[in-house]
Amino acid sequence: MSKINARILLEPNEVPKEWINILPYLPLPITPLINPMDGMPAPPELAFAIFPKECVIQEVSQERTIPIPKELRELYAQTYRPTPLHRAYGLEKDLGIEGDDIKIFYKNESVSTTGSHKPNTALAQAFYAKKEGLKQLVTETGAGQWGSALSYGCNLFGLTCIVYMVRASYIQKPGRKILMKAYNGEVHASPSKHTMSGRLFYDKNPEHPGSLGIAISEAVEHSLKRDDARYSLGSVLNFVCLHQTIIGQETKIQLSKVGISEPDIIIGCMGGGSNFSGLALPFMRDKLEGKLPNTQFIGVEPRACPSVTKGEYRWDYGDTAKKAPILKMHTVGHGFIPHPIHAGGLRYHGIAPIISNLVNNKLMTSSMHFQTEVIEAGLQFTRTEGILPAPETCHAIKEAIDQAILAKENNEKKVIVFNFSGHGYFDLLAYKEYMEGNLIDFELPSEEISDALNSSDMPIIDESKF
Ligand SMILES: *Cc1c(COP(=O)(O)O)cnc(C)c1O
Repeated sequence: MSKINARILLEPNEVPKEWINILPYLPLPITPLINPMDGMPAPPELAFAIFPKECVIQEVSQERTIPIPKELRELYAQTYRPTPLHRAYGLEKDLGIEGDDIKIFYKNESVSTTGSHKPNTALAQAFYAKKEGLKQLVTETGAGQWGSALSYGCNLFGLTCIVYMVRASYIQKPGRKILMKAYNGEVHASPSKHTMSGRLFYDKNPEHPGSLGIAISEAVEHSLKRDDARYSLGSVLNFVCLHQTIIGQETKIQLSKVGISEPDIIIGCMGGGSNFSGLALPFMRDKLEGKLPNTQFIGVEPRACPSVTKGEYRWDYGDTAKKAPILKMHTVGHGFIPHPIHAGGLRYHGIAPIISNLVNNKLMTSSMHFQTEVIEAGLQFTRTEGILPAPETCHAIKEAIDQAILAKENNEKKVIVFNFSGHGYFDLLAYKEYMEGNLIDFELPSEEISDALNSSDMPIIDESKF
């Protein structure tokens, strides 16, 4: 492969025409969303009151593929898709890797309008909300990536977007707040005094750093106040992972253009699991059909919030105030308030049920890294490839570097592909702290996890009643 082809590009008409639905391929059926009021699977009518209707239908669909509406597909092509796949020649050289035995590729979702993979589902959700005649979408955001993406999508379709932003990030990342406002989004620091769920925390401590769990509670509560408003979630749910599968489908075509049909390792960072799913699921479908027997899948988490690596696979609330549906997933407990690490998008207590299903069936693994080593890997990437990664993305980079070094030491041939989920130009504080030696490593102690999971506050779900 010549270095002139380091960026593998596709034409606008190569934007995928359908999403790949992994649900019918899973070895064990996916678990349903549970109504927190009665502990039983949520009937569609209930879910329709929370999420846009089409998304609920997709959440439980058993169709192998779901067509992307023409208007939406055109919008992707008009704005930023397909995204490039890069061969990381600069990074490889810096790692002392020469020749073609070890190849590192990254799928560059940072070129989207708002700088991450998140508009892939934001545009879809806003499109379906508009089609249904809704007027408002309400959501939470951690680092602000999701809030920006949904504000952008809503504004395009003439909908109002209301965002509850985790206070730690609201303070750390004022740039994201301004971007949301630029897209006409309405932003509140969470916990806020606008909802009952928020006031539980706000009244005791107006400086409370917040958590994604609390912000979700606030957004769900707010959305239920109006008939023409719905709640919107940027990760975790099946339909969100579905919308992201355009990433992996494009990557497959791009790899095939340089003669690669069987990548060895697929890597993505995991907050709720959507960008990892987006890259991995199209390859995973092939694996489940027996086509990629040797491909390995690795999801990467922060040591400060290792939901899969150190959590338990069990039923838990999706949010802190127990208003959102209950999911079966790997969790460190819904009551968990994570340390304010910079990778705000990775601070969720649970993970997508699809990811948990795959982990439980030993189809993928997870790993975890400290904040400083992750930012260090991000800087190495910046200096060799030129783009400054989001702190979330740095987790995937760190793992890709580790895997490449391991392959080199073992004289193995490996094709490593990771998802470059977003850029970090709004996350400069993380880099500043690292440069000044002030970045602190947090590791979530196992006792804290077992305390949260043994709490009487965890839901008890009787599956035999479904
Ligand atoms: C939100 C976000 C993530 C984490 O969310 P997932 O749903 O796990 O993908 C990762 N990277 C970036 C850049 C993000 O904005």
